[in-house]
Amino acid sequence: MDLLTMYAQMGLGKAVCDRGEEILSRLTDRFRAIDQRAEINQAKVLLAMQKNRIGAQHFAATTGYGYDDDGRERLEKVYADVFHTEAALVRPQITCGTHALTVALSANLLPGDELLSPVGLPYDTLQEVIGIRPSPCSLAEYGVTYRQADLKPDGGFDYDAIRAAITPKTRLVTIQRSKGYATRPSFSVQQIGELIAFCKSVKPDVKVMVDNCYGEFVDVVEPSDAGADMVVGSLIKNPGGGLAPIGGYICGTQECVDRCAYRLSAPGLGQEVGANLGILPAFYQGFFLAPTVVAGALKGAIFAANLYESLGFRCIPNATEPRQDIIQAVELGSEAAMCAFCAGIQGAAPVDSFAAPVPGDMPGYDSQVIMAAGAFVQGSSIELSADGPIRPPYAVYFQGGLTWHHAKLGILLSLQKMVDGGLAAL
Ligand SMILES: *Cc1c(COP(=O)(O)O)cnc(C)c1O
Repeated sequence: MDLLTMYAQMGLGKAVCDRGEEILSRLTDRFRAIDQRAEINQAKVLLAMQKNRIGAQHFAATTGYGYDDDGRERLEKVYADVFHTEAALVRPQITCGTHALTVALSANLLPGDELLSPVGLPYDTLQEVIGIRPSPCSLAEYGVTYRQADLKPDGGFDYDAIRAAITPKTRLVTIQRSKGYATRPSFSVQQIGELIAFCKSVKPDVKVMVDNCYGEFVDVVEPSDAGADMVVGSLIKNPGGGLAPIGGYICGTQECVDRCAYRLSAPGLGQEVGANLGILPAFYQGFFLAPTVVAGALKGAIFAANLYESLGFRCIPNATEPRQDIIQAVELGSEAAMCAFCAGIQGAAPVDSFAAPVPGDMPGYDSQVIMAAGAFVQGSSIELSADGPIRPPYAVYFQGGLTWHHAKLGILLSLQKMVDGGLAAL
């Protein structure tokens, strides 16, 4: 059976496929550049695994307290080497990205301290963590105050506002690399480095945490190469390579990571406890695959931007901009179009392809959210997925794809559903 026949069985017609091929024919150079970066990142991960002499014995399960877990300790050394940091905390006991960020923030902020976001409002779920939206156990409840400097209308840093917002109380600066559910640009590592240098020039002892979610391996440098004291992310996004079934990481200075470990487990225990429960093979192998998986996801994002922009939809980043994360926002303009787009992503999935995504309430989000994902790991957004809050400009945030070919199919099917619903015209 040929490809078009198989695609037809999935509901994907020739006209949409042809449009896709036409778009793809212009992307050869960009795809080559992505592959070159992936090769560099692959070498980085490989060297770190070789340097730390990873052997089969390091995949063994530990239980109970998990004392002397050599596999766990070496995995953390591998992460530290790849991110060029003194230390790392990489654990299945970190339940998600929000949890990793919460640990990093609450471990490094004490009552009376102030947290500054110089890049506008942080990611939805962090607003409750910080207490921007009142919430039990927020940092605000513990006496940590918060300030924010908004981005300039063009998306640039407002250095005057940032200088004014840094006070003697400012202890930690949080910088979100990826746009999250906002339609601002994502930042390059170089831009983040300039911002970090500025903040430290105003207050040399200030610590900087970067929310690195969706940014890992997109570039050949990470924010920790640009002066961040901590970089934080989720293992069911980029660095888990699609194989990690849970987990989060914090890489940074020994001082910051030690505090995070004491916060995650208990003062005095820190990194010494935390059984791996047999999960290490997935963590190691996922990290090994991550550069390639991220490359596939990036190709998908670039393909989506070029396809949808050619049909008149605003895309962020646009069709030609450089990439700083794997997220592609497409402003679809209506709830109906968001539903059709998500139906296409869902219909292309290997798991739950028969499900119909509908908007619903989500913990941590203040508007309804629609999510499409047919993932091997529940909620994993390094796997092909699309989501977005049901609010203007009705932007859908597309990301992931464990393989480029799957990402391509999902994007084509999303367009097919829009065309079928009269929501887009070829
Ligand atoms: C996904 C994400 C988070 C939170 O991660 P969860 O694993 O969903 O809790 C935080 N910040 C950004 C920018 C993200 O993309």
